[in-house]
Amino acid sequence: MTATVRNTEALDGTSKAGWERADFVTPADKPPQRLFVPGPTDVHPATLAAQGAPMIGHRSDELESLFGKCSEQLQALYCTEARVFTVAASGSGLQEAAIRNAVGGRVINFVNGAFSQRWHDVSVGCGKEAIAVEVPWCTAVKPEQVEGALQGALADGPVDAITVVHNETSTGAASPIDAIAASVRVVSPETLVLVDAVSSFSGVKLPFDEWGLDLLLTSSQKALAVPPGLAFAAVSDRLMDRAASVPHRGWYFDFLQLDKYRQRSTTPATPAISLMRALSVQLDRIFAEGLEARYARHAFCGQMSREWAVANGFGLMAERGYESDTVTTVENGRGLDIGKLNGFLGSQEMQVANGYGPYGGKAFRIGHMGEVWPSDLERLFAAIEAFASGAGQ
Ligand SMILES: *Cc1c(COP(=O)(O)O)cnc(C)c1O
Repeated sequence: MTATVRNTEALDGTSKAGWERADFVTPADKPPQRLFVPGPTDVHPATLAAQGAPMIGHRSDELESLFGKCSEQLQALYCTEARVFTVAASGSGLQEAAIRNAVGGRVINFVNGAFSQRWHDVSVGCGKEAIAVEVPWCTAVKPEQVEGALQGALADGPVDAITVVHNETSTGAASPIDAIAASVRVVSPETLVLVDAVSSFSGVKLPFDEWGLDLLLTSSQKALAVPPGLAFAAVSDRLMDRAASVPHRGWYFDFLQLDKYRQRSTTPATPAISLMRALSVQLDRIFAEGLEARYARHAFCGQMSREWAVANGFGLMAERGYESDTVTTVENGRGLDIGKLNGFLGSQEMQVANGYGPYGGKAFRIGHMGEVWPSDLERLFAAIEAFASGAGQ
């Protein structure tokens, strides 16, 4: 098993990725990117327009065929034979669903940033016995840390599940999910592996079955580049078996009920029909680009962003070797005023994100996911360099 640790040689100027800028020709129908924040991301006009179609009844054949088509494409994107749930909620809703369905007893939450902290807060909020394992921000969660924490907790009894965020959007550090899942299987085979891939899914390959995951959740508005309001999770049979014995799963997010309706290509409550239409168009666009091409484009944009930051007097916040391919957290080594920078970028219809929480002003984040192409980054970098050399100040 090889962990998904990045080859950092590229930062030293020797590209190992094997892709050239010329391999990523910006599609003619793609407007220039405006949002370089890590979600919501710009939505392609064709995807946006799909929402304008007239309503259909939610117990209609048309809805069932739309739902069935999207479910099949989502399974392919997840590389799974297992079920993929689609719910009208943002990703945080499925963080809650995961805990309510998978955890009867104890859960360990690995916390290395704001969104993994949220999953811990959600676990506590659901009344579960939740153990937070703090991992320094800007670093990845490592399999050894998971093994150690699990072994320690197992001394007091079983652990129902662990939660880990693949791509910590607050810091730009990506954790090696494949190696983490493999360690859990060795140390505690009955512990379920719950993963949040909200800001990486569809930009980075995350093969659910091959890695033996139990739940992998994401939101529509980040790398998938669909408007906000839908969330998705692949869920294993093991988790479904567990859920059957967990009381008080609630109603809206009860996986047993969702699964019963999913088998008829529908949902228990009214689905977000317009968003499903946008999703359907966007999934067609994703498969037309090709999954491998899409992953390569994101990897290339990540590499470009890191190389640009290092070459231009900035630094990188994320641990070396674990930098995200969908969001780069740039250390503000040149002391730019991020508010003014965004004012300047705004005059050109662009925007980056400030550093998260404690990193406000000390860093800024560049989202390069969804509809971002190398040409978009070139335009952004030129504007940041112009600002840094005095333009707009
Ligand atoms: C954005 C984000 C969330 C929250 O998702 P919502 O769709 O806003 O609820 C959770 N986890 C990660 C890693 C995120 O980037």
